[in-house]
Amino acid sequence: FLSRLRSFAGRPACSADGVLLKVYGNAASDADIKSIVEVDGHGVGLYRTEYIYLTRAHLPAEGEQFWEYKKALLAMKGRPVVFRTLDIGGDKIPSYLSMPEEKNPALGHRAIRYSLSRVDIFRSQIKAILRASAYGDVSILLPLISAIDEVRSAKAVIDDVKEELRREGTAFNPRTKVGVVVETPSAAVISDLIACECDFLSIGSNDLIQYTMAVDRLAAALSYLYSPFSPSVLRLVQTTIKNGAAAGKPVSLCGEMAGDPLLSPILFGMGLRSFSVNPSEMLRTQWILSLLKTEEMRACADEVLNLATAGEIHRYCREHFSRFV
Ligand code: PEP
Ligand code: MG
Repeated sequence: FLSRLRSFAGRPACSADGVLLKVYGNAASDADIKSIVEVDGHGVGLYRTEYIYLTRAHLPAEGEQFWEYKKALLAMKGRPVVFRTLDIGGDKIPSYLSMPEEKNPALGHRAIRYSLSRVDIFRSQIKAILRASAYGDVSILLPLISAIDEVRSAKAVIDDVKEELRREGTAFNPRTKVGVVVETPSAAVISDLIACECDFLSIGSNDLIQYTMAVDRLAAALSYLYSPFSPSVLRLVQTTIKNGAAAGKPVSLCGEMAGDPLLSPILFGMGLRSFSVNPSEMLRTQWILSLLKTEEMRACADEVLNLATAGEIHRYCREHFSRFV
């Protein structure tokens, strides 16, 4: 079976009835990039840039970041890399950055909110990513967006940095795409509006579950509520996929859900065509998708979206897809 899985390495992903798909890897370390290269993956669908910040004792200078991003791009040999801008705050705070104590860190000063409050740090990261765009296929992804103003403010900074690079005569790709992580219920509900303001959407199901269910994703005692099978979560995912498609913007899903063998068939049935999963799940996801037929999975997704509880949905998925586990 393992050698059968290996045979998917480097091949385009495709459903049983010939729908072309993408299976990307999520990276939060150099080792992850290496694993993605090893399975000849289609690219890095989520590069968690905070690891560059969290593994150092100092704020990484622009040149230091540029070097890391360029390294990843060269390793991917022209395949796309989606750089998510700094997603710190909440549970992830580098020792050298002071942050105010917060009663509700998950609802506080994190991700894009932090970047927009420290434009000096944000600009240096954007500059590093844009400079790296001269060496590969780069996209920029904005985490924890909950309002359109945040997208506009971030894009204004990006445009400003582009202007600076032009003035300096530094090489970069002026058509670098900018996407939004849909990981708050707010973003999912207005994903039609967000899709008009950016180039692509990436659903962050890990946080989307946390914020939709109003349950701390790290609280073990409440984990019974933290379920990717929740009807409300799946409906928000469906809304986002539909809104992206209606606006003609690609939609990907980069949370754990994308690599869950019980849920990837349902996501495919909902119309998802791009999956970003942990490196160790890339080949299995490609294999699962290769066995699915569009109409059958659409019918399954319709049935699932009409079930009332996470338990019922989980049972349905186990009955239909346990051969993939
Ligand atoms: C997510 O929230 O689903 C996600 C992909 O990002 P992270 O797990 O890094 O918050
Ligand atoms: Mg997230």
